Amino acid sequence: MRTEVLIGRMPRTHLAGLPTPLEYAPRLTQVLGGPRIWLKRDDLTGLAMGGNKARKLEFIMAQALAEGADVVITGAGKQSNHCRLTAAAARKLGLGCVLLLTGDAPTGSVSGNLLLDTILGAQIRYVGDVLWWELEPLLERTFVELTRAGRKPFAIPPGGSTPVGSTGYVNAVVEMCGQMHEQGFAADYVVCACGSAGTQAGLVVGAKSLSAGFKVLGFSVALSKAQAHQRILALAEQTAELLGADCGVKDDDVQVLDEYIGEGYGIPSTGGLEAIGLVAQTEGVLLDPVYTGKAMAGLIGTLRAGGFKKTDELVFLHTGGVPALFAYEDSFTTLGAPMSPVSLEPEVFTTG
Ligand SMILES: *Cc1c(COP(=O)(O)O)cnc(C)c1O
Repeated sequence: MRTEVLIGRMPRTHLAGLPTPLEYAPRLTQVLGGPRIWLKRDDLTGLAMGGNKARKLEFIMAQALAEGADVVITGAGKQSNHCRLTAAAARKLGLGCVLLLTGDAPTGSVSGNLLLDTILGAQIRYVGDVLWWELEPLLERTFVELTRAGRKPFAIPPGGSTPVGSTGYVNAVVEMCGQMHEQGFAADYVVCACGSAGTQAGLVVGAKSLSAGFKVLGFSVALSKAQAHQRILALAEQTAELLGADCGVKDDDVQVLDEYIGEGYGIPSTGGLEAIGLVAQTEGVLLDPVYTGKAMAGLIGTLRAGGFKKTDELVFLHTGGVPALFAYEDSFTTLGAPMSPVSLEPEVFTTG
């Protein structure tokens, strides 16, 4: 059965403004002097400042509604885009939202995603020194507590990386294939950031089941290469099974690197900050310091190391995260000079 039909059988709520644009990035391409680079603008999915989680939540929240939930629980770091979008999705559907955020309660003002969580009226609980991939038992405990209090909770794992959530990215491949056809090109690579792995897993299943002809190249921002690989593969297999897509995901369909994490998850890297400056100053497009800046640093590093052919077509999936910029203002002021990584001579730019 066709992938579109398989996806069409899944319960879904309308949360994202789709399709998102797929735009050629001529100046970025020219400055890097290599393969053509396109930006898939999932930062523009629309829900409460957008991002990739909106696609996953369209399917996850439908599952929550089908199970009669009146409150959703999820968790991650304080600057989690997933938490912001889950809070927004819950509010839009008339549900409550409890967020378990790692670290301690901030003493001063709140900024970035945490500010938006507050405005969205999420019930925020700080859980102290836990990493986001260790939150599962705390989510379960909160689930039990809310059930005992007479609520109907629905727990969403960090990042919304379940087979149901990944379906949103299988669907994104359907969307991209149509756009590439319209714009007269075929991607050789789709490049993305990999956090909790659901996005890449969905892309892999989409690429396989539609025989889309591109490789998916992920840059991990948290997990080691081995951990990320294992997660993506397992989730891709489960997603294919859920959909009934008999596409035979194999080990070498999963390509993920961990060399651009820098000092750790949520800690800006020099390469990531430079990539943010470069894309802003060539395309007027903002990336974020936690995910997309590091993934773009990975794309640039791979390109410079000769990892792509000059004739390749690269689609960079902009997964969003831009609100987090406002919680990282110090990283940019201290970086100063590296923020202008290209000599912006007007004559360099001959195409528009
Ligand atoms: C969550 C997130 C990702 C990573 O997606 P996963 O499905 O968790 O791997 C990438 N970019 C941004 C901005 C995100 O918020």
